Amino acid sequence: MSITDTLNKLHGPPDEPEKPQAELPDIRKVINAFATGQGPQSLKQDWLRASGLYFMCPREFVLNYWKPTPSVKFTGDNLMKMACGTWWHWHMQNKVLGPLGVLKGCWVNSVSDVYNRENSWHPDPELALQDEAHQLPVWQFYEAGLTEQGWRMTGHHDGLVSVDRLRWLADNLNVVRKDLPSALKEVQAIPVGELALLELKSQSISAAEHWQTADETPDYYKMQANIYQHMTGIHKTIFLLADRDEFKCRLIQYDYDDAWWQEATRKATTIWTAIRDRTLPDNCPCRDRDFWRAKKCVFRKSCWDEGDFAAWVKLQADSQPDRKWLNLADWMPPE
Ligand code: SF4
Repeated sequence: MSITDTLNKLHGPPDEPEKPQAELPDIRKVINAFATGQGPQSLKQDWLRASGLYFMCPREFVLNYWKPTPSVKFTGDNLMKMACGTWWHWHMQNKVLGPLGVLKGCWVNSVSDVYNRENSWHPDPELALQDEAHQLPVWQFYEAGLTEQGWRMTGHHDGLVSVDRLRWLADNLNVVRKDLPSALKEVQAIPVGELALLELKSQSISAAEHWQTADETPDYYKMQANIYQHMTGIHKTIFLLADRDEFKCRLIQYDYDDAWWQEATRKATTIWTAIRDRTLPDNCPCRDRDFWRAKKCVFRKSCWDEGDFAAWVKLQADSQPDRKWLNLADWMPPE
């Protein structure tokens, strides 16, 4: 018997060396590939959306109007950030601000549409507290659309908020903590004061650090807020912000600045005039066809290849005989 056999008999065979654990797949790459695999989305638009107007290239909008082409690409990361924002809107409106009695707007009864309420506070905060145990609240907030016919602009704000009622809640935290049903009843009796438009935004931590005051509001949100303010005549927006890490919420008040509305209407004029006249707008964000944005743009060729644009438009119109085109023959910028 060898020494090894003797040792094995005494102590058992030596442990097998541990196999290194196989590396796990890179799930982020899988998710991003899944999003990419779904291909670019088509944006068939003949209205200007307030939320996207700041970044919109007038040429791109016009080219896409005549020849709708899938162009909006999402990564898995983007989609999850958007889904997080969607959930956060839903949660704040239905589970927090609505039941607290500070959010006014359109409430839809998920059990019976007979009871739907417009321009209303949450119809039944007490029921909302009982709902807490359930996944789907009976009363759900519906973001009603806004349209500005003359400029062909659309959008929807996140509701109307009473800062005075919020202030009362902040001043009476003990009642809220210890006797919530009474607090919810009492808040209904607080004069609503001046209502403000609500905009809920979730953001990265670094974006949150750079947005601490009204002046630091990003320009694209300033334009969006001013468009809604102009459409509704309510010249105050309350941004309710939260970072996507700890969801520490805070408020920023942003008041109307007509310069942003003027900027929005300048862009709208450029776009609708170009579509009316079957021309390509002059002002565009790309210096030339090799500019970074042009390199990513699905309309790069149509945008930069010189040619008879009116003939190209006619070709597009002829190839879509069933399409209902806008009648902008008499369109002029509204006074
Ligand atoms: S290439 Fe640039 S300027 Fe031309 S449509 Fe695209 S984004 Fe606009």
